Amino acid sequence: MFEKRNIKAAFGGFISMTTLASGMFILPGDQSALATANIQPFDQEVIIETKRSLVNVLPENTGVSQEFHLGHPGIDITAKLGSKIYPLKDGVVVLMSVTRWDYGRSVIIDHGNGLQTRYAHMGKVFVQEGDKITTEMAVGEVGLTGRTTGPHLHMEIMKDGRTVNPRPYLTLTRELLAKAK
Ligand SMILES: [Zn+2]
Repeated sequence: MFEKRNIKAAFGGFISMTTLASGMFILPGDQSALATANIQPFDQEVIIETKRSLVNVLPENTGVSQEFHLGHPGIDITAKLGSKIYPLKDGVVVLMSVTRWDYGRSVIIDHGNGLQTRYAHMGKVFVQEGDKITTEMAVGEVGLTGRTTGPHLHMEIMKDGRTVNPRPYLTLTRELLAKAK
């Protein structure tokens, strides 16, 4: 019941956000996430909020503000500051780094089979290198560290050492969740 309600809300959020899409947009309830250069309008559904979604936030505050493209090796998922970030899959934390620019506080998780994911611009980080984590455990919170113009999760997926478009993986996750209900 709970998941069903969230999914409905997610699509409602999608509709209200697309009406604003015109190359620039403002996410409802998140004025600080005002679009800047290179941000694309929504053309696909938002990531559905469930217990295992990447960012545990209200659906109306979640959307993809920047897709994977040349010069942007990940996907930007807009979310409220302090939202918990959950890993795509179970794995082991192989890197926890803090930089002033680019990624800010970020974590890389190794999921085995050549698959790794990175979560960047985090505020609080809850894991350390070597930690074994599951999809039930938050790796950190959405923050404003590194090069970011508003609160969002920058997420990368690396397959055999190369960054790939996260979209198919996110779709897969969503489909699996739908099947699991
Ligand atoms: Zn990004």
